[in-house]
Amino acid sequence: MRRRFPLRCSLASLFATCVGMMQPAVTAAQTPPPPSERIVIAYVEPTNLAHKPLYDLLKEKRALERVKQILERIRWPRTLRLELKGCDGESNAFYEDAIVTVCYEYVDEVWQNANSPKRPAMISREEAFVGPLSDTFLHEAGHAMFDLLKIPVFGREEDAADQVAAYHTLQLPKERKLQLIMGTAFAYASELKIRSPRDLSRPRLRIGRHVTYADEHGTPAQRLYNLLCIAYGSDKELFADVVKVGYLPSDRADMCEDEYKQVDFAYRQLIAPLIDVSP
Ligand SMILES: [Zn+2]
Repeated sequence: MRRRFPLRCSLASLFATCVGMMQPAVTAAQTPPPPSERIVIAYVEPTNLAHKPLYDLLKEKRALERVKQILERIRWPRTLRLELKGCDGESNAFYEDAIVTVCYEYVDEVWQNANSPKRPAMISREEAFVGPLSDTFLHEAGHAMFDLLKIPVFGREEDAADQVAAYHTLQLPKERKLQLIMGTAFAYASELKIRSPRDLSRPRLRIGRHVTYADEHGTPAQRLYNLLCIAYGSDKELFADVVKVGYLPSDRADMCEDEYKQVDFAYRQLIAPLIDVSP
């Protein structure tokens, strides 16, 4: 569950050498849809009129078309539907039965945060809006991959979906991936009410309850560190500042290249073979 927009990469070209190593997880009973019907999209009219401007903005920016463009190269055994719709007041995003849903309520929350006066100057409004939305769609698409492509997952599925989302983002051109990763990191930092790296080391006065940790997701702080780690591990030069400035502790940073390689290996073994090569 939960979270994130437009990406412009051709994943297929990255994994051309992997094609043919595996066959799609399609059973004899299923007839896979033709490429033009692998992904359908829907901008559902919001019932809450307050969401109408966001609905218009997302349509104008062709948000769903951009996500579709990435995901339609995957040889889905069933049609996957991507939808934006109102969720009766619930701010969320979820995947279920070949449908990825991102609620206008969640989009609105991200929009409000992107427009916050507390947003640091180094993060643009566009990055703060598009980053988390993109990450959310790709996170939910990760759940869809595990389910529909029958991808085995060790560890928590929510962590794996976060890794798939970050991995997709990290295949983008340098400038774009830096913007999207930092935009997503800003969303987590806002959730944690962090304004500077020093805030990460300050003791928190709020007494937590053990039951908090029963959630299937990592805590926002863990998700923030995981995101920064996989990004740093993929390109230590591009993301050098997250360590230099202190957002990612050096002890963790030392392991990040291996963490990225682990995800890269899993993706190339399990998902890349199911992606069409560009014509
Ligand atoms: Zn999830």
